Amino acid sequence: MNETIFTKIINREIPADIIYEDDLCLAFKDVNPQAPTHILIIPKSPISKLTDASENDQDLLGHLLLRARDIAKDLGVEDAYRIVINNGETAGQTVFHLHIHLLAGREFNWPPG
Ligand code: 5GP
Repeated sequence: MNETIFTKIINREIPADIIYEDDLCLAFKDVNPQAPTHILIIPKSPISKLTDASENDQDLLGHLLLRARDIAKDLGVEDAYRIVINNGETAGQTVFHLHIHLLAGREFNWPPG
């Protein structure tokens, strides 16, 4: 996988508002928030998009979702939030390092745009 801006955030080469970190993942505020709460949760291991995840990533993917759950609780938005993974350019992915968007603090429409 080519290095992205998220690798630079993991390596502290560029700043980010990091709110959670463990051995497997990092969570930080989105620089261009689409809701009052907008957090990105990323694996430290380089997977460019969900399509490229393997069966070996099962625990990692579960870990990311459970940490998203915990972060939502820590931020006091556990009652209503949206989890988004954009997979591929046409689906809106712009950074090719797998990430989970955690969005909260406003109403969300369905279907999404
Ligand atoms: P995607 O469109 O790939 O699903 O989401 C990428 C997200 O990364 C976007 O919401 C964008 O605002 C965010 N982003 C891009 N570059 C940076 C950055 O340098 N720092 C932070 N904190 N977020 C970024």
